[in-house]
Amino acid sequence: MSKAIVSTLYDSDVFRMACRQFDKAADAISLPDAIRDRTKYPRRCLAVSLPVKRQDGSVTVFEGYRVQHNLSTGPSKGGIRFHQHVTLGEVAALAMWMSWKCSLVGLPYGGAKGGVIVDPNQLSLSELEHLSRRYMQEMVNFLGPHTDVPAPDVGTNERIMGWMMDTYSNHVGHLAPAVVTGKPIALGGSQGRREATGAGVAYLVKKYLGDLKAPINKATVAIQGFGNVGSETALALSASGAKIVAISDYTGGVFNAKGIDVKKALAYLAYAKVLKDWDGGEPITNEKLLELKCTVLIPAALERVITEKNAKKLQCRVLAEAANGPTTNTADRIIDARGDIELIPDVLCNSGGVIVSYFEWLQNLSNFYWSRDEVMEKLYGILDKAKDAVDAQKRKFGFSRRLAALTLGIQRVADAKAARGLFP
Ligand code: GLU
Repeated sequence: MSKAIVSTLYDSDVFRMACRQFDKAADAISLPDAIRDRTKYPRRCLAVSLPVKRQDGSVTVFEGYRVQHNLSTGPSKGGIRFHQHVTLGEVAALAMWMSWKCSLVGLPYGGAKGGVIVDPNQLSLSELEHLSRRYMQEMVNFLGPHTDVPAPDVGTNERIMGWMMDTYSNHVGHLAPAVVTGKPIALGGSQGRREATGAGVAYLVKKYLGDLKAPINKATVAIQGFGNVGSETALALSASGAKIVAISDYTGGVFNAKGIDVKKALAYLAYAKVLKDWDGGEPITNEKLLELKCTVLIPAALERVITEKNAKKLQCRVLAEAANGPTTNTADRIIDARGDIELIPDVLCNSGGVIVSYFEWLQNLSNFYWSRDEVMEKLYGILDKAKDAVDAQKRKFGFSRRLAALTLGIQRVADAKAARGLFP
């Protein structure tokens, strides 16, 4: 029997959680030993020091990472996170999930993720630009349109992707838009990319409510996290007639039984930056929000918020994982055993973002640009296919929906690795 000989480089709660998910899925499909560890562990990583000149003339060194989990099925793909709690292990887990996600929805990509330990809210705009450009400069030989293609994630946005693309293009001496996705439209960004993740989450939520014969205009929705993904999901679901009863960010949340005015919340956020003190409802903590009685609960922030402590107390009918890795292994088992919650697992639920990233990359490589309608139609077509495949796998083997999604994603990566063979 083969056994990986690996260090504790990535060891962390979240990496162990991703590994346990993998092990369970690999067991469920009897993945042969010869391919198992090769499929499981990240291929390579780069850690870099990022010195940035501050506005007061001092210099701060930040630490950044990029983990490329799998490159067997195409260039690796995945966002870059700017957050004060980033760790190498977290980035590795997120890279692993990108591999299964891209593979599940049939994109010709491997998985990767990047991160910088920084609270971007503490930087001025020019400091943020210097940090973003420095990150790309340090990564220049490690990524590229056919090697590894970054995108936004928590704490990063279109503007940062634009700076990174510009830095890379200056290095190679010509415009290279396909090196990064999630760019501003003016720099080759795709129509629909900004709202893609939230639009995809909302689309799948509506599909699953349809399966349950639960009308969308009677649905109540609680959303944890009001960044790009949470806010776009809220907009899309309220436009479809659902009632958003709670939203939150890291400063706390707002509950309103009559329905949150999502546009007003966004207008407040545009100048206040955080939801704290917004008067669109009663204050609610992030913990209480997760336990609210609602039709759909949407964690759209960070990992490991649904745990053994609150999994028994959830009062939702559908749990839509817009965040990556929001549910711990133990919580997952509890939810599975309860049997009263339809879980839409992260690798399916939030895949709209990377799907439209793929469209953006295709448009950049071919220099031929699509309309928003074309983008959305193709996005929904891919989501339909992935949903049907996951639900068929679930029925066929009696798996949970997470296990169904992961086994499909992992099997495709393992098959590609097996077919390519092992370089002697
Ligand atoms: N950061 C997003 C995710 O976790 C998008 C990645 C991408 O578009 O490459 O899926």
